[in-house]
Amino acid sequence: MVFDVAIMGYGPAGASLANLLGAAGLSVVVLEKDAEIYPLPRAIHFDGEVMRVFQAMGLRPNMESISRPGMKGMHFVNAANETLLIRGGTAALGPHGCANNHYFHQPELEHVLRQGVTRFASVSVKLQHLVTDLQEHADHAALHVTDLRNAQQHVVQARYVVGCDGARSLARKLLNCSTRDLGLHQPWLVFDALLKPNAPTLPDHTVQLCDPQRPMTYCNVTGNRRRWEIMLMPGDDTAELVKPENLWPLVSRWIQPEHADIERAVIYTFHSIIAEGWRQGRLMIAGDAAHQTPPFLGQGMCAAIRDVSNLAWKLQAVVRGTASDNLLDSYESERAPHVAEFIELAVRLGDIIQTTDPEQALARDAKFRGGGEPEIFHFPAPRLGAGILSQAPAPVGQPFPQPQLANGQLLDEVVGNHFAVIARAEVLTKVTEATRQAWASWQVRTLDANDPALSTWLASQPAQAVVLRPDRYVLGLAHNSAELDALTHDVLPAHAEVESIS
Ligand SMILES: Cc1cc2nc3c(=O)[nH]c(=O)nc-3n(C[C@H](O)[C@H](O)[C@H](O)COP(=O)(O)OP(=O)(O)OC[C@H]3O[C@@H](n4cnc5c(N)ncnc54)[C@H](O)[C@@H]3O)c2cc1C
Repeated sequence: MVFDVAIMGYGPAGASLANLLGAAGLSVVVLEKDAEIYPLPRAIHFDGEVMRVFQAMGLRPNMESISRPGMKGMHFVNAANETLLIRGGTAALGPHGCANNHYFHQPELEHVLRQGVTRFASVSVKLQHLVTDLQEHADHAALHVTDLRNAQQHVVQARYVVGCDGARSLARKLLNCSTRDLGLHQPWLVFDALLKPNAPTLPDHTVQLCDPQRPMTYCNVTGNRRRWEIMLMPGDDTAELVKPENLWPLVSRWIQPEHADIERAVIYTFHSIIAEGWRQGRLMIAGDAAHQTPPFLGQGMCAAIRDVSNLAWKLQAVVRGTASDNLLDSYESERAPHVAEFIELAVRLGDIIQTTDPEQALARDAKFRGGGEPEIFHFPAPRLGAGILSQAPAPVGQPFPQPQLANGQLLDEVVGNHFAVIARAEVLTKVTEATRQAWASWQVRTLDANDPALSTWLASQPAQAVVLRPDRYVLGLAHNSAELDALTHDVLPAHAEVESIS
């Protein structure tokens, strides 16, 4: 059998892609070398846009049940315990129809994703299957796979292959990608602890302890789990540092050994890199295989989920024959500049926290007291790079918000995973028959913008209509029916030819 898509790796990127493609009815095989979900904590934060992608998978309630909204923000504190700056949290709904920040335990999130995949008979998951090589043929790719349970070798065939195989990606090596280095490579000790009932009350908010002698992050994860990320300093003996007798003194301002059990303590080197050349022919990469970000913004996994959300609808269109294969080239051109902005900001935040020169730390503290660099504390809202977008500036290329409509439904519940046109009634009625036919073939959802939430948004723009992509990004704006016709025919990916407009 030739699968529509083979996914290498069943971490958050692979499992999310399997959900999105499974929901679209594609035949998918997932090949994962490990027998179990990676059991130890890694990511602890995802943002509102990512919750919205989980909603698109039909998994929002499941994700809500294993996460908590992060409402208390992030406090930057100096060595003297003086709060220099607060990056505010909020209980209010953000633009995506949910909280802006969510805290979770990565193995639990991956379990929810894998449970989600069991809904789809067209998705076949093969654990303990190591991909060792790939060859491309005229009409399919052949993956060489070793079944690690019995050392048997197999060949798995698929029309497209997505390497979601993590930081040491084989797929990235096969693509022979070059790498753009954004400059940060710093070892940190990641220490997770489970509080006992006798533990003192610890902050609900995240603390960035900007102590030049030992920069550190504290975070309330979920339940009784707490995370400390502790920067390694010159002269640290890494083997010694992870021993309990050396770990506890590092966090003694918060807890003592009798207050918690150590879940794990491990040293990670945080990187800031982006691969170049995410697609060649039938092979693509996504998630950590394509980019790695230091965790100062809690965005590595988020970027992975954004990747597969961008890719899933394009793969669906290409496999179904409603778009030509070059639609897949817009994946990297759209996503790479977007993820770069997040990584660059994470590096800047890292530079602030990681200051170890006492003079520089004093100068930094003084700057923060005076308001600091406020722009770096705003959540980034980059526009996608060149791709399937009209040339208009933002909000084109940014996510459309998810308001609650007058009937009580959230916008995405009405639109589903489709293109959508939101327009004033008089604009909708005057589009051409050809436009209507294009919308029908693409199953475009049309919404009359007389709903208050939608008309308020349109009133804030110089536009009478907006076209959304299945990944909820704004494809383009139109002032009238003629412009909406043009947008439909020029930018909507068509069967014969895909317009890639920069
Ligand atoms: C300490 C720490 C804190 C972090 N905090 C955050 C955070 O708060 N928020 C956030 O968004 N991100 C965070 N991250 C990043 C996040 O954990 C990663 O970005 C995320 O796990 C990447 O998912 P992935 O699916 O791309 O890769 P992985 O999770 O690495 O999954 C790759 C999978 O591919 C499999 N595989 C590899 N090679 C093969 C092969 N040849 N054949 C078959 N299978 C293969 C692996 O076994 C693995 O299961 C953090 C990371 C760390 C280390």
